Order: sequence, then structure tokens, then C-alpha cells
Amino acid sequence: MSPMKNEAVADLVSNTLEELLDQVRGDRSGELADYIPQLAQVDPEGLALSVVSSTGRIYAVGDHDQHFTLQSASKPFVYALALSQRGPDVVHERVGYEPSGEPFNAISLDAEGRPANPMINAGAIVTSSLIEGATPDARFEAIRHCVSAFAGRELELDEAVYASETATGHRNRALANLALAAGTLDRTVIDATDVYFRQCSLKVTATDLAVMGATLSNNGVNPLTGVQVMTPEVVRRTLAIMLSCGMYNYSGYWMNDVGLPAKSGVGGGIVAVSPGKFGVGTYSPRLDPSGSSVRGVAALRLMSNQLGLHLLNHPSEAAASFNADDSSFDNLILRMRGELDFACVERIVHELSEHGDTIKSVHMDLGESTAVVPTARGMLKDLQEVLAHEDIPITIDDPRDFIETEPHLKAPEPHVADAHAPLPENQ
Ligand code: GLU
Repeated sequence: MSPMKNEAVADLVSNTLEELLDQVRGDRSGELADYIPQLAQVDPEGLALSVVSSTGRIYAVGDHDQHFTLQSASKPFVYALALSQRGPDVVHERVGYEPSGEPFNAISLDAEGRPANPMINAGAIVTSSLIEGATPDARFEAIRHCVSAFAGRELELDEAVYASETATGHRNRALANLALAAGTLDRTVIDATDVYFRQCSLKVTATDLAVMGATLSNNGVNPLTGVQVMTPEVVRRTLAIMLSCGMYNYSGYWMNDVGLPAKSGVGGGIVAVSPGKFGVGTYSPRLDPSGSSVRGVAALRLMSNQLGLHLLNHPSEAAASFNADDSSFDNLILRMRGELDFACVERIVHELSEHGDTIKSVHMDLGESTAVVPTARGMLKDLQEVLAHEDIPITIDDPRDFIETEPHLKAPEPHVADAHAPLPENQ
């Protein structure tokens, strides 16, 4: 394929995203967040949609380089850091797992004094207080470092938003006081909320959010930098909380309607994840009454419906698919795509066993695979041995060494598909 055609193919994706944004552009409903005065200063028209694949391809349309503050979209990433430092038992002694069905800033503590979940303010303040570090500065630096690793670049603090939030964050300090009184907060209220306000005031773009989401979609490996930011287990737990609690008192509806792990913030951003496939970042600062971006929610609803992304869309289909190029099964060529899971390898094994008599050779191409889950990896190794034993030659094209190396530890080569949207060095 000539480079000309290649670009045209890449544009097909960006054009689809542009068309999606066009469908929501005209919606001017909602209000800018004004309880943090600085947030009311932004241009209400900003609108962006970025998608980053688990293999590191970037597609970004609209105002994708416009900065805004992370706000509550910081919560899943700080939760992931707390889980990785303290483990789920310690974290969940202090904060629950359950959707609260209440607004983000609700006074929400259960009978044991725990906030309902880490995605509402009370729970996020407690989660953030669990981050290791002797001082608030050290704890914030640990958070900034971690969120930057998710984004693949150094994120900076928006000093004006931080100051504005500190000056007006009485309700958050009240929530921290209640957690302190209930014995769920080990820091002082001022220290705990100071770190929380700073994590909320980190500056990002829609593309940063998409890269952060892509890191979650890629089992914790940032697909642009290759850095393993979190373990697959922490990622799974984080995605579960995002799916059940990420959209505040809209979470149940979101689960039904969109069906993707996501987190919104009152800065106008939403990060969403299609596990094993891609991360999505949206930006549009007018908010609905639950505190989520009106046009961001609308864009993600469209994406989910039009691109068929709801997690429960195809419960009976394996996440990965394979094509057999040779229908005679003589010299079988298997091309794998996506995450190679148990179900996919089971299908391969089944096909091979059905046509075992006629197969003369097998070629397996993992070039488009994004991951091989541990069980599937073991099964593929076994399959190699069995075929060798049967004198059936098997060749495996495995450019990322999924089969030979520990699963999830290898990152795919970055590939920037949209020349207009390179990952900025310093936005
Ligand atoms: N910093 C905001 C607050 O605590 C975050 C709220 C949000 O984004 O939902 O009020």
C-alpha cells in the first residue's frame, strides 16, 4: 500500500470521530462548574475527542490540545496507585466498593464510617490520603509521577485552579472532617484535602485522557512509552470501580446505556476505556446536573451504540478472532487479532482437532495481537509441543514475543497514526 493510501486509511478513523463530534456539537445545554470559581472562566465551546488504541495509535479531533484540569478524572488513577502501594485489603478497610447513587460531593459514609466508593469525593479524599509519603508535597509528587506515567508525559499543576479550589473547598474539608471523626482518615484534614485539590488541578488534554485510558486498556502498559504503570490486577480492579461507580448518580444508567468503564470530572473531561482495544478522552466543559460533561456523555453514548462497544454486547463471542486463510486446512494460516484469550485458543484447538487429518503445516501470525492472557499462552505452548510431536511443522510470527516472555510485560511499538496529533512533549 502506498503511503498516500495509508494516510487515507488512517483518516477513515479520524473522519468517523469528526462525524461523531458533529452529531453532538450543537448541544449547548448544561452549565460550567462555578462552585470552583476558576472553572467558570473557561471557553464553554471547547470540544474534543481523542482515541488511543492499545497498540498506541492516536486519533484526535476537535480541540484536542486544549488544556483543562483533571478534577475527578484523577480518582481512578490515584485509586490504582493506592491499590498498588497498599493492596486492596488496606484500601477497602477505609473505602467501600458500592455505587452510592448520590452526587459526587455527597456526605456519604456507611455504618463503619467508610465512604461508599473511591470515585466520590469523600472516598477519593480518603484514597488519596493513603498514598505513601512523609509530607503532602511528597504524596502529591508520587501522584503526579504516577498520573504522568499513565499519560506518557509530565503533567503540570494548574496553580490558579488549585488556589481557587483551596479557597472555596469547604465542603470537601467537611467531608474530610467526617472521615477523620469516623476514624477512616489518618492525615490532618488540611493535609489530606491539599493533596486531593492538587491531584484535581493537574492539567491534561483530551489526548492525555485517551492515553491514560489506553494504558488501562492495555493491561497497565502505556502503549506510547512501553512503561508498565500498573499490574493487570490493579487495572482490573480500577476498571471495575470505574464501571460501577465512575459516573456518580448516573452510574447505573451509564452501565446500561454506554457500558464502558469511565470517569468524568467537573473540569469537562471524561476518560473511558474499551478494555483490550482503546482509551477515549473527551472534553467539553458544560456539565449536566450530575457533574458530567453533557457533550462528552453524548459522544460516548454515540460511540458505544454506533461502534458497538458496550462490554456486554456480545457475551458469547471471544474477545479475539482469528481467520483461517486456507479453507482446505492443508497449510493452515491463523491470523490473530486483539487479546488472545482462553476462548480464542479453545477455538483454535477445536478447529485443529477437527481437521487434524488433513493439516500439513500451521502458521500463526500474532502481529495484530495486543496481549496473550496467561492461560492462552500456556495453551499455545502446549499446542506447539503437541503439533511437533505429530510432525506437523508450526511457525509462529510473534513480533512482540507474547508467547516467550511473561504476559503483559512487553509493550507494542508506538505508532502515531494521525500526524496532526502527535503526543506533545510539553503541552
Ligand atoms: N475537585 C472537584 C471537587 O472535589 C472534583 C469534583 C468532580 O470533578 O466531580 O469538588
